[in-house]
Amino acid sequence: MKLRRVLLLSLLLAWSFIILTGLGIAVLLFINTPENQPDISEAEPDFPEIETVTDDPDIMDIQTNDILTDIKPISNAYVREIPLPLTSEMEERLEQFRKNARLLHEEYPEHFLISLPATEKTAALTFDDGPDNSSTPEIVEILNTYRVPATFFLIGRQMENNMDTIQYLIDSGHTLANHSWSHVRPTDAAIEEMMNEVGRAQEKLDAVDAGNKLFRPPYGLVNRTQMPALIDAGYQVIGWSVDSMDWYFDKPEDIVTCVVENIHPGAIVLLHSSGGPANRKATIEALPLIIETLLEQGYRFVALK
Ligand SMILES: [Zn+2]
Repeated sequence: MKLRRVLLLSLLLAWSFIILTGLGIAVLLFINTPENQPDISEAEPDFPEIETVTDDPDIMDIQTNDILTDIKPISNAYVREIPLPLTSEMEERLEQFRKNARLLHEEYPEHFLISLPATEKTAALTFDDGPDNSSTPEIVEILNTYRVPATFFLIGRQMENNMDTIQYLIDSGHTLANHSWSHVRPTDAAIEEMMNEVGRAQEKLDAVDAGNKLFRPPYGLVNRTQMPALIDAGYQVIGWSVDSMDWYFDKPEDIVTCVVENIHPGAIVLLHSSGGPANRKATIEALPLIIETLLEQGYRFVALK
């Protein structure tokens, strides 16, 4: 009888030991579950390393393949229609413009360009009417932030008093090109006057070593009779296939729509870096949205040269 009691007691003790040990292990396991660990990831975020190319954030490093040299003509290039409602007068005016641009391109396919070869998803942002000392540098800063190279068609007579902006454009690696001396409308000017306008602006560009002979006519057109003179003088005339309409709309979202709806591989996009009643406020607001949307769509930005 006594022996049985001892055995029962021993068994009870053994069971208690097993149960207590089990409980102890369970408590230890609970403490060590990930939910109860301090969140070290918060203290040390695992961000991918950001590649910095230069120490100066204002200076952009443009890959050589972002600069297009030896621009080839493409067939079937045309100016896109504006994807937003316009007054009937403006519709007519722009329809006539598109027709004239296409005729010029068909007659001078190598020297009047509307867009770039569409073999790749590239887009060339072009900015007219600079330089100045306010909106142009603001636009350069946005482009540099996204490392987007662009082409600036400059008005010759504005260059002298805006050398800081010129230097900023050069240091950032953007292309400087010709937008005439005083923004005369070539289609209203005699050949001699127009060539004088282009030549004077080119002298200023050559003085800062712009290194190209790209001419964007003010208002986008020249007369077909003026083309041979421009070709003889070594110029390539650069039109556009996508008009941002930043000279017409003052809402940034309308400008974004005009670019994003019409974008296509090889697009040359018309924008402005200076002038306008609100000092390019809408262009400056639209630009980051345009860049981000096109980058999301897989576009690569190129500068002309
Ligand atoms: Zn202009």
